[in-house]
Amino acid sequence: MRKPTLGNPQNTIEILQKYDFSFQKKFGQNFLIDTHVLDKIIRAADITKEDMVLEIGPGIGTMTQYLAEAAGKVVAVEIDKNLIPILTDTLHDYDNVTVINEDVLKLDVRELAREENGGRPLKVVANLPYYITTPIIMGLFENDVPVESITVMVQKEVADRMQTGPGNKDYGALSLAVQYYAEPYIVANVPPNCFMPRPRVGSAVIRLTRHEKPPVEVKDEKLMFDIIRASFNQRRKTLANGLNNSDKLSLAKEELIEAIERLGKGPGVRGESLTLEEFAELSNYIYALNR
Ligand code: SAM
Repeated sequence: MRKPTLGNPQNTIEILQKYDFSFQKKFGQNFLIDTHVLDKIIRAADITKEDMVLEIGPGIGTMTQYLAEAAGKVVAVEIDKNLIPILTDTLHDYDNVTVINEDVLKLDVRELAREENGGRPLKVVANLPYYITTPIIMGLFENDVPVESITVMVQKEVADRMQTGPGNKDYGALSLAVQYYAEPYIVANVPPNCFMPRPRVGSAVIRLTRHEKPPVEVKDEKLMFDIIRASFNQRRKTLANGLNNSDKLSLAKEELIEAIERLGKGPGVRGESLTLEEFAELSNYIYALNR
């Protein structure tokens, strides 16, 4: 079995110097230089030779080497063209890796899963570029990409937001969206010194295991997410006022109050105290009233 050659500071510096590589801040480039963290990610992702892994942002190929050892196949999507010759070099020994030089947000990942994996579910594993964490994850869920799990390094604060529930200051639209599609689990917290260059924020590895079926029954998903966004857009307002101020929902205030009362809540209730089940119930009432 081959051993990954990257994942420590010396080898990373060596390869960066060999190719005279300069980090691009706009691409959120913070490369992993800690083998313990890499081992933890691979273990949490639970990869077998049956799996196809999609890696977003392979960088110089550090985690890609680990993934190629564990998986049947790896497709790695990297936006920075200056990293492509480096990846050709560092992944030279692996015949189960395909590198695509593309912006992942412009790529049709569903089509990719169909072509490369016969439409079977992928496992997504990545040390994500933090500036586009939410669009990447929501894009995978909302576009019905067949994914079994997403195991990713994200900003610590974002991991907390994904995992938390009502009553916590981090609870919001992202928590509800993620939990509608998946079961979140924070695997590890990762300090800045595990990266080169060091990010200014703390990081965490989170695993999102996709639900086979959402935990709540919703008549109109888009309506529920419009309601959720409207409730958290104006956190200080009551739920009724927040929803009343939304231009996406055209309901009279009395109807909104009635729908909220049917949840068994008083008029002063705020969106941040509602569970996913309650948002689903509320959106189903409003759906019925709209018809
Ligand atoms: N996986 C490497 C590691 O752990 O050392 C690098 C991780 S670094 C945090 C994020 C990577 O994502 C960089 O290589 C960056 O160039 C790439 N990236 C940034 N924006 C991207 C995009 N829109 N599409 C694909 N890759 C992107």
